[in-house]
Amino acid sequence: MIKLENIGFSYSDDLNTKALDSISLEIKRGEFVCIVGPSGCGKTTLLRLLAGLSFPTEGNLLIDGKPMDGPGDDIAIVFQDYALFPWMTAYKNIRFTLKHTRKGLDKEDEDRIARELLEKVGMEDAANKHPYQMSGGMRQRVAIARALAMDRDILLLDEPFGALDSKIRGELQNLLEDLWRSDKDRARTAVFVTHDIGEAVRMADRIIVMDHGRIINEISVPLRRPRVIMSLEEEKTMKELRLKLSEIMLNDTGDSGKACRCGGPA
Ligand code: ADP
Ligand code: MG
Repeated sequence: MIKLENIGFSYSDDLNTKALDSISLEIKRGEFVCIVGPSGCGKTTLLRLLAGLSFPTEGNLLIDGKPMDGPGDDIAIVFQDYALFPWMTAYKNIRFTLKHTRKGLDKEDEDRIARELLEKVGMEDAANKHPYQMSGGMRQRVAIARALAMDRDILLLDEPFGALDSKIRGELQNLLEDLWRSDKDRARTAVFVTHDIGEAVRMADRIIVMDHGRIINEISVPLRRPRVIMSLEEEKTMKELRLKLSEIMLNDTGDSGKACRCGGPA
């Protein structure tokens, strides 16, 4: 579904440094992939390329076999900072998205789907609240509903729960896994960026580890879903995977660090 061949990327204000270097990766339809790595390693840059918001300076990026040519009909994004329209209620945010991203819906369809989506994310009682009246967790629920409203095959998420406390974060991880799994009509592909190792193991089928603009490792997560309730055996596997991931990240010597620009925005 998504294929990256030897991708390199430099920001135009610093063409001598590669924010991404020799990235090759294939992501299958329906797969849930997490990208982990320290702040500044290029996760957001990679996601922006996948979203068609910027273009690789080297290599090829194919979506369903076709070269990426800009933000298309395949992709929805959830950012950490909610990206809701502040002057619209939760309901209006979803209605607006439906109106502008889905063709052939009449007003009744829009109303019905907006209400269904708000219910799915547990926001039906807060449909008439504006973002400033919501907690971070509520806003992120609406942001997820908004991404689902677009009804796209690929869901890109950039540290969507990064600003939330661990209890709310856990609830939203469960919700997201549920929504991703429950959609029988389409196998949604998810690319989820996080710097939280536990979150990566909780969510991913496969974890891609990045550092200094490169992929330094990858591990798969052979755990059943849903991962809300797990056997002792599964808990143990999860712990081992977390340990393995932190070792990978600690032991990275930074050889590829020649391309690094640290201290940038997370
Ligand atoms: P991450 O999301 O993993 O924290 P980013 O993809 O945001 O990392 O950043 C990767 C590198 O690119 C960092 O060194 C950062 O400083 C740099 N960078 C990010 N955005 C820009 C930009 N708009 N212009 C120039 N450099 C940038
Ligand atoms: Mg980032």
